[in-house]
Amino acid sequence: MPRSIDVGALAGQVLAGQRTGIARAITLVESALPAHRPLARRLLAQLLPHSGGATRVGLTGVPGAGKSTFTDAMGCRLIERGHKVAVLAVDPSSTRTGGSILGDRTRMGRLAESDSAYIRPSPSGCHLGGVARATREAMIIVEAAGYDTVIVETVGVGQSEVAVAGMVDTFLLLALARSGDQLQGIKRGILELADVIAVNKADGDNAGEARVTARDLSIAMKLINDESSGRRTPVMTCSALTGDGLDKVWGSVEEHRSWIDETIGLARYRADQQVEWMWAQIEGSALDSLRSTPELLELGHRLEEEVGKSTESALDASVEFLVTWAKSVSGFEWT
Ligand code: GDP
Repeated sequence: MPRSIDVGALAGQVLAGQRTGIARAITLVESALPAHRPLARRLLAQLLPHSGGATRVGLTGVPGAGKSTFTDAMGCRLIERGHKVAVLAVDPSSTRTGGSILGDRTRMGRLAESDSAYIRPSPSGCHLGGVARATREAMIIVEAAGYDTVIVETVGVGQSEVAVAGMVDTFLLLALARSGDQLQGIKRGILELADVIAVNKADGDNAGEARVTARDLSIAMKLINDESSGRRTPVMTCSALTGDGLDKVWGSVEEHRSWIDETIGLARYRADQQVEWMWAQIEGSALDSLRSTPELLELGHRLEEEVGKSTESALDASVEFLVTWAKSVSGFEWT
């Protein structure tokens, strides 16, 4: 990506829904080059008033749960009903290569062929914070480009679920049939985040077991759901392969969105997400400034040792560290 970019022209291409413009805009917001950040922020400022109109859905599930098959099938159904669907991904472990882009495209073969679909694989990068930021910003871009449904896919491991749940309206968990004991294997944290749960692969010989799992999960959700919210997470079965139950799953996604509208209200819901995001950004940038300042890293190691040997108290050490940090940050280039 060149250093000089005509941000106004790029915004125009995005608003016109031009694919090459959308791709370039996302590449710009993903760029780790400090010189690109002010340009990315200017671009986003121009696009922001045109964003926010999409139904934002997060999708999680262990590898092999059927996320791509589900997205392919559901995306095509939505397009048949006149929607425009964008698929983004958050996978902090992804090392982006031409292969993985092709991989995502072939995994969602039918959807990838549609003019009404835009599929973008996860940006590469080891920091979840960076990947999550790029994906949030990509969401603004695809919404401004006219996509009215955004599906953000993530793999059911680690902290990426929390990040995705914080950027979507509805978080959908695709589960697989398993016995009661194995149900324990689904992390409680992920169940707590789920707004809708679908047990996938409920077809053929597997259908009965999937129904049993759905019933068990439904009972588990009674305990997990926060009573004060007044909402119970619906659990159902589906088959991304045959299409059975997919409309019901999407119906539950829409029902959750209506529930937001009727209770807290979508604007408030998203504003709360922005506040949390602001603090996450501040925390992330503060940590980046620490990591990129060698003196602070050294001081940190020295203080760790001293506190470890009880030659300095934790409180004194933290104050010494913060005072030194405060002196050093004035020259730090915040992006
Ligand atoms: P992902 O890793 O979660 O994206 O899972 P994939 O969509 O790649 O699916 C993993 C495997 O499960 C593939 O071989 C799919 O064909 C298969 N699969 C996905 N959904 C279903 C389903 O509903 N029923 C059956 N029987 N197989 C499915």
